[in-house]
Amino acid sequence: MRVERVGARAVVVTGVAGFLGSHVADALVARGTRVVGIDRRSPARDATAAANLAGLLGRPGFRLVVADLNRVPLEPLLEGAAHVYHLAAVAGVRASWGREFADYVACNVVATQRVLAACANVGTPRLVVASSSSVYGTTGGDPSREDHPALPASPYGMTKLAAERLCLEHARRPGATTAVVALRYFTLYGPRQRTDMMISRVLRAALTGEPVHLFGDGTQRRDFTYVADAVSATLAAGSVPARAEAVNVGGGAPVRLHDLLDLAADVTGRPIPAVHAAPQPGDVAVTAADLAKSRALLGYRPSTALAEGVARQWEVLTADRAAL
Ligand code: NAD
Repeated sequence: MRVERVGARAVVVTGVAGFLGSHVADALVARGTRVVGIDRRSPARDATAAANLAGLLGRPGFRLVVADLNRVPLEPLLEGAAHVYHLAAVAGVRASWGREFADYVACNVVATQRVLAACANVGTPRLVVASSSSVYGTTGGDPSREDHPALPASPYGMTKLAAERLCLEHARRPGATTAVVALRYFTLYGPRQRTDMMISRVLRAALTGEPVHLFGDGTQRRDFTYVADAVSATLAAGSVPARAEAVNVGGGAPVRLHDLLDLAADVTGRPIPAVHAAPQPGDVAVTAADLAKSRALLGYRPSTALAEGVARQWEVLTADRAAL
């Protein structure tokens, strides 16, 4: 894995109070990089943001800017930044079908356009943007390659594809100053995972005994990716030679949801009560990443097996509970 060197220049992380953004910022600060983190959620008012930012607030290398990307003047925040890691978005497939769609468009597409304009105005050399496996939509089951058709099966996936295309086309314009790497993350998990996501819901079922809702028949396969592996890919994407690339970031070993439940029962030593619920629109049967391009471009090799990653997430979840 190539290692980023940005010297004294700061980097900007949008979505820093989120699951992935806080882990990326933790890793950057740990290696001595100064980070300006932007998020519309304030740790003073939002318990999840406070928990996610707990290791960052007060660190000398870290500055938090609580602001909406659609409102704040971005140029002063991006001026002089070596890279921008644009990870902010409204995430999740299910809610995107409903009334919140306007917020998905505003935060995932319009805000991305604002970030791009600011990068161009101040001459930011590199933008790493969070894309998603959801851009592929329904596949035949074989691992998805970056040059496969992108046919998202949900409004969320459409906004992620729109954001990715916006970024790549900006980077391809003649004379563009900002190179782009768009990372198509496949179902991230690990400590601080969003509570609407599968592994988080499964481990809460183990903890509380309340059944987890399993949408569909449980034969869906997901390419779960441990967050520390995703962070390594994200940091590498800051410095590799690239002009405009979309790259998969997967765990490398897709599993059926039934098998995930068995694995979680083994890891936690507790039964996982589950009730079957109707399949949800936009939930595809298989996500699987072809990792050839990310290996070649980023030197990416996922190193955390699912049992190990789930054990780590469980350890942190139960330690947090013990501290309450
Ligand atoms: P998250 O919800 O935990 O974090 C996203 C953060 O972005 C939130 O803290 C939110 O407040 C912030 N944000 C949203 N709109 C904003 C705005 N207008 N201004 C300022 N801040 C704003 O989500 P996550 O799971 O950490 O996902 C991070 C990124 O990775 C997202 O772009 C998501 O689409 C992408 N992604 C995540 C996964 C996954 O499995 N978690 C998979 C594929 C792609």
